Amino acid sequence: MRTVAVTKIGSLSDPDDATRGRVGVVDFPDQVLGPEDVRIRVAYSAICGSDPHIAEGFFGVDVPIGLGHELSGVIEALGAQAHRNGLRVGDRVAGNFLRFCGTCRACQRGRQQFCSGIQDYNRPGMAETVTWHESQVYVLPESVSLLKGCLLEPTSVAVRIADKSNLRVGDRVAICGGGPIGQLALQVMKMHGATSLTMIEPIAERREIALRRGAEHVIDPLSQDQDAQADAITEGHGFDVVIDASGSTRAVQGLLRIAAKGATVIYGAMYPHDFEMPLNLTDYLYLKELTLTGVFVSPYAFPRAVQILPHLDVDELTRAVFPLEEAVEAFAAHVSGAHPKVVIRCNDVDVQEGAR
Ligand SMILES: [Zn+2]
Ligand SMILES: [Zn+2]
Repeated sequence: MRTVAVTKIGSLSDPDDATRGRVGVVDFPDQVLGPEDVRIRVAYSAICGSDPHIAEGFFGVDVPIGLGHELSGVIEALGAQAHRNGLRVGDRVAGNFLRFCGTCRACQRGRQQFCSGIQDYNRPGMAETVTWHESQVYVLPESVSLLKGCLLEPTSVAVRIADKSNLRVGDRVAICGGGPIGQLALQVMKMHGATSLTMIEPIAERREIALRRGAEHVIDPLSQDQDAQADAITEGHGFDVVIDASGSTRAVQGLLRIAAKGATVIYGAMYPHDFEMPLNLTDYLYLKELTLTGVFVSPYAFPRAVQILPHLDVDELTRAVFPLEEAVEAFAAHVSGAHPKVVIRCNDVDVQEGAR
């Protein structure tokens, strides 16, 4: 089965050809269909901002490492007992790449993101098919195309960011980073009652997307004084919720300064594992009482992500589509930053079923 995989560990943006990481299309063995499993013929699988971190060896260095956890497709086969949620062959679905066991201490305590069996079903979905446990699979609403449906997983992350934000209706919100998570979080926070909604983003096209999708203000952190802009927008009070979706080590510390007293600051991206951010405890935790938090994965958020996906406008996130054979070019396009999101078409199932 053809699968997009990391074939050499290294930075995908390394200018040196000899040390640069590599991605290619590799033949992986078919996954066994267990009695509670669902085999999905993958339609679309999107490249995630975390994929280059995987290429750098963040989760291991044994290549090939199969990629792809933001996918949609059509159910091709069901295990004999995979009927508890009413799934049927032919259903258009998306889902959670992680399976929570429901049995371990973390699951028992309602903290499924720390499930000790979390990776057991984490199978690469940038492939012709993927086989998941039925608990990982969600039927897409009729109005959501398969192309849009591959954004269910990043939408679930935006929902979890909202959950962790402590947002009250009318709170002022700033989001740093206008990539897919930042743009989805923007729309979710808008729905949630955010005001003075501000996108901080150096790429002009991404600032424009944010303005079209509900941002009231944008800040270019490279050409503008971020602190002065934030002061002007918030009348000197700062933002009640500040979300980092950039993963930028240059951006993260400045977000503490634009946070209001009592604010919540969510570091909602992946960061280099050796990066440490200085934190003045007197300024930010004693005098300002900030709540600092992060987001690892998004348990519980999927059912609500299914509910809000029809209400999100994701046109700009689904424009760059490459066929599976051109995965190398797709990753080059992702690394170039030319598109806010790059999607790989793994099969023509949506064409076969009338482009729904
Ligand atoms: Zn992702
Ligand atoms: Zn568990």
